[in-house]
Amino acid sequence: MKFATKTIHAGQVPDKATGAVVVPIYQTSTYKQDEINVHKGFEYSRTGNPTRQALEECLAALENGRFSLTFSSGLAAEHAVLSTLKPGDHVIAAEDMYGGTYRLFEQVFKPYGLQFSYVNGNTGDFEKAIKPETKLFWIESPTNPLLCIIDISAVSAIAHKNNIKVVVDNTFASPFFQQPLLLGADLVVHSTTKYIGGHSDLIGGALIVNDEEWYAKLKFLQNAIGAIPGVFDSWLILRGIKTLSVRMKQHEENALRIATFLESHPGITQVYYPGLPSNPFHNLAKQQMTGFGGMISFKLGQGDEKAANSLFKKLKIISLAESLGGVESLICYPSAMTHGSIPEEQRNAIGVTKDLIRLSVGIEDVEDLIEDLSRGLNY
Ligand SMILES: *Cc1c(COP(=O)(O)O)cnc(C)c1O
Repeated sequence: MKFATKTIHAGQVPDKATGAVVVPIYQTSTYKQDEINVHKGFEYSRTGNPTRQALEECLAALENGRFSLTFSSGLAAEHAVLSTLKPGDHVIAAEDMYGGTYRLFEQVFKPYGLQFSYVNGNTGDFEKAIKPETKLFWIESPTNPLLCIIDISAVSAIAHKNNIKVVVDNTFASPFFQQPLLLGADLVVHSTTKYIGGHSDLIGGALIVNDEEWYAKLKFLQNAIGAIPGVFDSWLILRGIKTLSVRMKQHEENALRIATFLESHPGITQVYYPGLPSNPFHNLAKQQMTGFGGMISFKLGQGDEKAANSLFKKLKIISLAESLGGVESLICYPSAMTHGSIPEEQRNAIGVTKDLIRLSVGIEDVEDLIEDLSRGLNY
């Protein structure tokens, strides 16, 4: 099956009992057993639920992976991955990353004895940071919020030479534009809250993995810790996925138009979008992705919260809000919003400065979006 067909059919066979074409919402906590431990494959919905199972099968198919597990949020999914490590284990992460992931590393798992190092996204920097205790490389590509591209194949090759596993947070690209397992990564993380759900109406997370032993550990943790998605949320995510291909194409088409507009705007000093030929990551992005996605960051010339607020207040269509990947365009101010949990000194060092704006380009008519931004930038 090709990608667009999988979004609609993978894991989603017509219901055996009724013929319902759409996977039903199995809103039940438990399942009748014929005798002790004789049942139809489901005992209790924390452990397994048919709606969630359909979602997990679909996600595994979209990422070309063997196994998938879903969680109540992207961070809950990440929590499960880190819970497979033990005190003393070391993780090397690319420093430009989602603020909540950084907080989970530094404020939740570091006190439990895990060690973290942060490197620039260059392949060589990962190699230099390896210690005997290094167990994982953790990367986003494109990164949040600076849209850097990390060479997943090259980083995975170094990891595997050293018996290290590679986790890729694929939230920004979505499986439509990038499939990290095919590039050599070992595990994919998603915040399904974003492009996969696609409609800004739920919070969810997912893992996709090939290694059976790692999957078994994660499946144990999903059940033992219990941060599963609700049944209705699982159904909403499946429903969102059905239009993932058409949405991603439109997000990208609109983003390229807007990035080009922003690049030529006199009020803007820098545009970060890997789809622009002038972007330093353009060629690498072309190598490992089939498109550039719908996220753009840019810098206002004179940069502080006041200038940013003056832009946000003039916008009539684009909303100032956290999150991304929905059909509606959202704009945000990373240094005080999504990345507010990273200390200022470190934020500045990686380039998440006070003049940085992040835009999640929606699928509205692009002319309306450009008009909105023109109005906002006219100060
Ligand atoms: C939003 C996000 C997360 C966290 O996901 P939640 O669903 O909000 O818990 C992780 N990684 C990236 C890249 C994100 O954008």
